Amino acid sequence: MAHQFPNLSPEQKKELSEIAQRIVAPGKGILAADESTGTMGKRLQKINVENTEENRRSYRDILFSCDASMANYVGGVILFHETLYQKSDNGKLFSKILKEKGIVVGIKVDEGTAGLAGTNGETTTQGLDGLGKRCAQYKKDGCDFAKWRCVLKIGEGCPSPLSIAENANVLARYASICQQNGLVPIVEPEILPDGDHDLQRCQYATEKVLAAVYKALSDHHVYLEGTLLKPNMVTAGHSCTKKYTPQDVAMATVTTLRRTVPSAVPGVTFLSGGQSEEEASLNLNAINQVPLLRPWKLSFSYGRALQASALAAWQGKAANRAATEQVFCTRAKINSLASKGEYKPSGSADQASMQSLHTASYVY
Ligand code: 13P
Repeated sequence: MAHQFPNLSPEQKKELSEIAQRIVAPGKGILAADESTGTMGKRLQKINVENTEENRRSYRDILFSCDASMANYVGGVILFHETLYQKSDNGKLFSKILKEKGIVVGIKVDEGTAGLAGTNGETTTQGLDGLGKRCAQYKKDGCDFAKWRCVLKIGEGCPSPLSIAENANVLARYASICQQNGLVPIVEPEILPDGDHDLQRCQYATEKVLAAVYKALSDHHVYLEGTLLKPNMVTAGHSCTKKYTPQDVAMATVTTLRRTVPSAVPGVTFLSGGQSEEEASLNLNAINQVPLLRPWKLSFSYGRALQASALAAWQGKAANRAATEQVFCTRAKINSLASKGEYKPSGSADQASMQSLHTASYVY
């Protein structure tokens, strides 16, 4: 069907699809370093470091200034507004440092969740007002992609038809605005792992949510080749008593994606959602070994599962810089291998990387 009112020129489409493909080039995924100031405070508190602008800057400086090998594993980094305008110890803007390594710079543009009245504690995500202007400015300031997180949950009456429809629509509206401004939208409908539901229930909910998201993206004329999807993996609830293997999780996840995500989408970059670092890597690896056609890149966009060991190694001390870099790079490399189904665990994963990173009703 010819498009009656074309909204993106061929040049705009080409730019968007090239950005998306660079981010998920073979062996690459995303470092989600866009924790809001409040979330960063909780992370720093765990290592007894004060939540000051300078401490947030120094920590992120270590991650972004890792040696050039980082760019083999990380195709894009998502920043928080404050970080986009911060500089490294050597006086260079973080965005410049990342670009010089060939890493695409992204920005979180949502403004958090707000309750949907009359539901069982469900939410939508805010931030559409003035979004076009903000996106245009971010593009000028060096960003090429954006993130917007919607949150859904599994429970009594959840996710409700209202929360599915509302979150799908707001994600599509956001994606459309991003593309008009040259930013590749990462579409993130996260279903929280809270609860005791089994794998099948999560699969059912994820299929319904993703189907609604792709219908809304189509309704809003979003150019799928210039988008990335950031979903939860299909896992059992955090307090489910039945245990599943990475192969079970992988089969349920890939089956869900095959039923709902068009093959025009270049990449699916999973969030880690409170899984331990090692679990997130093993699950991603198994996903990339499922013997079914997988027409998209299946990679990572991890926050906690890429940073937990690095934060623990840092402890807020400049003397730990090299060790922190090392730990971060190793984890990024493991996930890079997992994104190709080539990770072979040595069997000696340290205790820290096996620790659950789950927080109930997670706010980012
Ligand atoms: P986690 O990988 O820690 O779940 O966070 C990723 C993210 O960006 C959530 O929006």
